[in-house]
Amino acid sequence: MLASRPRPRPRALRVTAGLLAACTAACATNPATGAKQLSLVSESQEIQMGREYDREVTASIGLYPDSALQRYVQQFGSRLAATSERPGLPWSFHVVDDPVVNAFALPGGFIYVTRGILAHLNSEAELAGVVGHEIGHVTARHTASRITKQQLAQVGLVVGSIASPQLERYAGLASSALNVLFLKYSRDDESQADHLGLRYMRRGNYDPREMPNVFRMLDRVSAAQSGGRIPEWLATHPNPEHRRERIEQEIAALPQSFGGTVVNQDSYVRRLDGLVFGDNPRDGYFKGREFIHPDLRFRLTFPDGWATSNGKQAVVAVSPQKDAAVELELAKETSADAAARAFFSQRGVTADYPARTRVNGLPAVGAPFVATTEGGTLTGTALFVEHGGAVFRLVGYAAEAGWPTYRAAADWALRSFAPLTDSAALNVQPLRVAIVKLERRATIEALAHERPSPVPVATLALINQVEPQTPLESGRLVKWVVGHPAP
Ligand SMILES: [Zn+2]
Repeated sequence: MLASRPRPRPRALRVTAGLLAACTAACATNPATGAKQLSLVSESQEIQMGREYDREVTASIGLYPDSALQRYVQQFGSRLAATSERPGLPWSFHVVDDPVVNAFALPGGFIYVTRGILAHLNSEAELAGVVGHEIGHVTARHTASRITKQQLAQVGLVVGSIASPQLERYAGLASSALNVLFLKYSRDDESQADHLGLRYMRRGNYDPREMPNVFRMLDRVSAAQSGGRIPEWLATHPNPEHRRERIEQEIAALPQSFGGTVVNQDSYVRRLDGLVFGDNPRDGYFKGREFIHPDLRFRLTFPDGWATSNGKQAVVAVSPQKDAAVELELAKETSADAAARAFFSQRGVTADYPARTRVNGLPAVGAPFVATTEGGTLTGTALFVEHGGAVFRLVGYAAEAGWPTYRAAADWALRSFAPLTDSAALNVQPLRVAIVKLERRATIEALAHERPSPVPVATLALINQVEPQTPLESGRLVKWVVGHPAP
C-alpha cells in the first residue's frame, strides 16, 4: 500500500518520564463497570496517548478516502458513545483503508473500523455491535491499562532504539506503537466489552438480537481463511469458545420487548455501494516476484523465494532465513543526491563516495555502506532513483558476515527498478462493492451465472451472510463485487 505521497514515518513509542512519575489517577471506580480499577494514567494522559497513537494509525494504515462514509461513521459512533458512561471523551470514529476484517480502539476514545469489516456487516445494528464493543473497551479502560503495562515493559528497549531513529529498524529494534494495538485483550476484557457493547446497542435503540450475527460473520471469515491469516479482530479480540452463546444467553435474559428497536439493514447496505473491496492494486500489488505500482508508475523484481510485504510506507522483501532484506520507500528529499546525502550522513553510517548512475534509464545515485547499530554491524547497498518527480530509496542489507551471500541478489533487485509502461497495469482499478436489488427470488449461486463476479460465489455468500443456495426474496438488496482482477 505504499502511499503515493510521502507520509510521516511512525515514530518509536515515546515514553515520557512524566508518565511513569505521575501515578495520579491511582485507584478509581470505573463508571462503566463499577469496578475498582488501578490505573497509572489519568484521563487527560489517556487522551494524550490516544492522540499520539491516532497520528500513527493515520500515517501507517491510512484513512479510507470517502468523506461521506467517514462522516456517517463519525456521527453514528458519536451517537452511541454519547450514551456511554464517559460521554465527555473526545470520541472519534474513522474508517481505515484496510481490507482486513478488523475494528480497534485507542485509549481516550479513538475508534477505527476497517473498510473490510464494513463490507462484511449487513446492518447498522451489527455495526452498533462492533462499535459498541470497541466503545466498551474504552469506557472500561481496557486499552489504557493495557498500553500502560506494555509501555512499562518496553521502556528499556524503546529508550535504546530512539538513540538512532533512522536505523532502528535495521537492528530489528523497531517498536512501532502500533504493535501495542495488536496485543490480545484478556478473556475477561472481551466478555466485558461484549456486555457493554450490548448495553450501548440497546441505548442506541438497536435490536440486540443482531449482535450474535457479528460473531457468526467472524467465525465464517475465520473458517474461510483457515490455514491463512485469522481476521485481525479475532487475533486481538480472542473469541473464547462460548462467546456467542454467552451473548445469546444475555439477550435471552433481557425483557423480550424489542418493539421499536431498529436494524436498518437496507439503509446500511446502500452506504456500501462503491466501497473498495479487497487489496487496492492502485497502492501496488505483487505479481509473483514482481511488485507493480500503478500510481507511482514503477515496477521492481524482488529476489526469488523472499517473503514480501506491501506496507503503507515501505515495500519489503526478507530472505528465507530472515537475515537479509531489500526495502523500497519514498525519500522525502527532492533529488537523488540530496536523499543519498541524508542517508549516508546518518550517525553510524559509513559509505563510499556515492556514484551517479542510471537504472533502466532513470537518474540514480548509489553506494555500498556499513552501518553500526546497537544490534550489530550491517552491510548493504543504498540506491536513490529519481522517477516521476519522486525519489525512491532502495536499500539492500544484511548482517556483515551474511552480506557476501546476498549481495548479488539484493543488488540485482535494486537495479530492477524500472518505469511501468504496461497500460493494463497502469489502468488497473480496485474491485468494488455494488448493491443489487433482486427483481425476483434468487440464490447467490444463480445470480452469479447472470452477473459474473471476479470473486468466488463463496465470498459473495460470505459478505451477504447467507449460503450460496439460500433463496433470497425479491426486493432484497444484495452486496455484489464488481471489477476486473489486476493483470
Ligand atoms: Zn474486544
